[in-house]
Amino acid sequence: MTAVNKVAVAGGGVTGLAAAIQLAKAGVEVDVFESKPEPSALGSGISLQGNALRVFDALGAWDDIKAAGYPFEGLNLRAPGPGAPVVAALPDVKTGGPHYPAAMGMPRPELARILLEHAIAAGAKVRFGAAVTALRQAQRPGTDESVEVFVNGESAGEYDLLIGADGLNSAVRGLIGIDTKPEPTGMGIWRTFVSRPAEVERSELYYGGPVYIAGYTPTGDDSMYAFLVEKAQDRFGVSDEEATQIMLDESRAYDGPWNDIRADLAAGAHANYTWFTQHLIEGPWNRDRVVVIGDAAHTCPPTIAQGAAQGLEDALVLTELLTSRDAVDQRLWDDFHARRLPRAKAVVEASVQLGQWQIDGDRDADAGGLIFGIAQQMAQPA
Ligand SMILES: Cc1cc2nc3c(=O)[nH]c(=O)nc-3n(C[C@H](O)[C@H](O)[C@H](O)COP(=O)(O)OP(=O)(O)OC[C@H]3O[C@@H](n4cnc5c(N)ncnc54)[C@H](O)[C@@H]3O)c2cc1C
Repeated sequence: MTAVNKVAVAGGGVTGLAAAIQLAKAGVEVDVFESKPEPSALGSGISLQGNALRVFDALGAWDDIKAAGYPFEGLNLRAPGPGAPVVAALPDVKTGGPHYPAAMGMPRPELARILLEHAIAAGAKVRFGAAVTALRQAQRPGTDESVEVFVNGESAGEYDLLIGADGLNSAVRGLIGIDTKPEPTGMGIWRTFVSRPAEVERSELYYGGPVYIAGYTPTGDDSMYAFLVEKAQDRFGVSDEEATQIMLDESRAYDGPWNDIRADLAAGAHANYTWFTQHLIEGPWNRDRVVVIGDAAHTCPPTIAQGAAQGLEDALVLTELLTSRDAVDQRLWDDFHARRLPRAKAVVEASVQLGQWQIDGDRDADAGGLIFGIAQQMAQPA
């Protein structure tokens, strides 16, 4: 017995595919509508904390994720300037518990591929080039409520539930009248995907120098992603060559592995730019038979690398309730929000605070204490 028999998911990102996998495994008919024309993910990397890895295990995808990523423990802080000395080696909290590494770096396209394969294997139907454009909630005569979902302007049918996992600029969020929107936090990030020097075995961050944070995270035996966090600027019109040149110029103050990163950039590694955003829907994330989860419901700067982890937890908790109850009723939504809202709020607020301390140049702030406190909280199952 499940609370739903037929569900539409808007968005085939990490959150939407995680929800689709869990529902399809429970025998629910699932249609995933993804607006992108084909499977793809920005060719950079992602850092997945233990609490995200624990969710992959629940999905049945942990073995594949483990094989495709780079597990690591701890975080090094290095100083700018000659030799890039390691000034602190910080231990990590194992937020997924003792059975998982503290963190794992992964190429984003690999993560997308694995989740898509699991969703299809579980029985979900995934349509690309399919944007959810409208919806109509209705009371079916003599039966429960339903939602009619429109894809590329045409009806795709009626569903017991529409899960809007369509990212930070969620169309579904607007379609159900929630006007919370992502706001820039004042920081922008350059990212590039490069080869991993042998000495890089965990995430390393450099504070000080021309940018707020310079760093990198290993994603495989041969790969890692590197990033520079700067004051948000209008960088969106720059050419590929200019983007590479900016990363080369802004990273010159950093020695050590940054010499290898610059060599890859000079050899043509692509650099991309984006702004950090933040938002959180403070009230209910659903309106009747439509709910938004993941980046559609909350975003935060990746200062503690918890964005995708929170989307995965949203998907896990929602689908656990949908597959263990026999009705989509107020009790289900109350339980969902009680389990998800405070946790997502804590992550968003801490992530934003950490960024703001950087912007303000606040050297007395207890960043370590805040990060440790959140990690302790995330170590409890969602
Ligand atoms: C610079 C940066 C670094 C980050 N680093 C980390 C990190 O290290 N660790 C971490 O955990 N998190 C990190 N995050 C956050 C993480 O990337 C996101 O939280 C996560 O990808 C959100 O997944 P999602 O599936 O909710 O949304 P998305 O990944 O945005 O997926 C939404 C999908 O919906 C599709 N879509 C959009 N509109 C429609 C529509 N109308 N109909 C159908 N489909 C639609 C989109 O094409 C997209 O595929 C980072 C974020 C940024 C910006």
